[in-house]
Amino acid sequence: MISGLLNPWIRDLVPYSSARSEFSGSADVLLDANESWEGGNSGVNRYPDPLCRALRKEIESVMGLPYDMTAIGNGSDEIIDMLIRMFCAPGRDSVMIERPTYGTYSVFARTSDVSVVDIPLTPDLDLDEEAVLGGIEEHRPKIVFICTPNNPTGRVYPLEAVLRIADANPGITAVDEAYADFAADFRSAVPAIMDNPRIVVMRTLSKAYAAAGARIGILVASPEIQGVFMKAKPPYNVSLLAQEAGMRALQDAPRVRERIAETRRRREELSSFLSSLPFVRCVFPSEANFILIRVTDAASLYSYLLGKGIVVRNRSSDPMLGSTLRITIGSEEETGKLKEALDGWQG
Ligand code: PMP
Repeated sequence: MISGLLNPWIRDLVPYSSARSEFSGSADVLLDANESWEGGNSGVNRYPDPLCRALRKEIESVMGLPYDMTAIGNGSDEIIDMLIRMFCAPGRDSVMIERPTYGTYSVFARTSDVSVVDIPLTPDLDLDEEAVLGGIEEHRPKIVFICTPNNPTGRVYPLEAVLRIADANPGITAVDEAYADFAADFRSAVPAIMDNPRIVVMRTLSKAYAAAGARIGILVASPEIQGVFMKAKPPYNVSLLAQEAGMRALQDAPRVRERIAETRRRREELSSFLSSLPFVRCVFPSEANFILIRVTDAASLYSYLLGKGIVVRNRSSDPMLGSTLRITIGSEEETGKLKEALDGWQG
């Protein structure tokens, strides 16, 4: 079923067989991978586990994502790139995005010479289900990316709408749930993979798990797609240091929960503060660890904040996001500095 959607050169690929994938038992003398002997048998002198087994077991126990349905990317960004390379033929196929959304879906499509069908959100920045369904009918994209909660709006789309799109879509529906941990009562698309194996989900340790520097993205997919990803990815795509850092991030579960609760609390406080400012025209309700605001003059406010040593993101270049800034929820201290600076703005 999935094999008909794959690029034939990926479907028929004979994967590179690495030393660590040919032998994964235990032995004292490792002379199979042209590594250095100095540093022993488990240091950075050795290649990492290409299958990230320990990390995936930890992900299963902490995040509840089944082991045989997960694969790890060098960030979700690598997963996005890989999905496009697995399913889209250069110069012929397209992917669909709902704009404005996270920028790398389009960039990775273009680096593979894959075109981008871009469906605008509704004027109040919600998913335009009818337009997406019409676009699928018309353009037959190989992958429909859906980002929920969406970056940069912070909006969660109803799971029912996401699943209706996925069911109508004969191609792959890739649901990016990078910010899911920050959303209240979030309903993931992961359980729906059982009924519809054309759904794949992306999660990451870069946000709620505070490990962006480790570059750990998680693909959750049917075992069939997971298997193809494993064979098509670079053999050692997740470094030993990254796998270890990912393990540590996951093992700190109480702190992860506290951090999420703190982030949500601060997000609500900051939202009401922002709403009270005369130059803030709109605070878009957010379920993520950032808030999008529309202000009277985004460019001047951006430069003013920069002058105070505070960097936010100016999102105004998108036609639907005129005069908007996206602000990440920082620490208590960072948020305090931001509020103080905003209080002093005479916009
Ligand atoms: N998806 C979304 C929606 C994002 O906003 C980001 C990063 N800003 C990513 C994926 C990339 O995540 P990672 O760090 O896992 O590559």
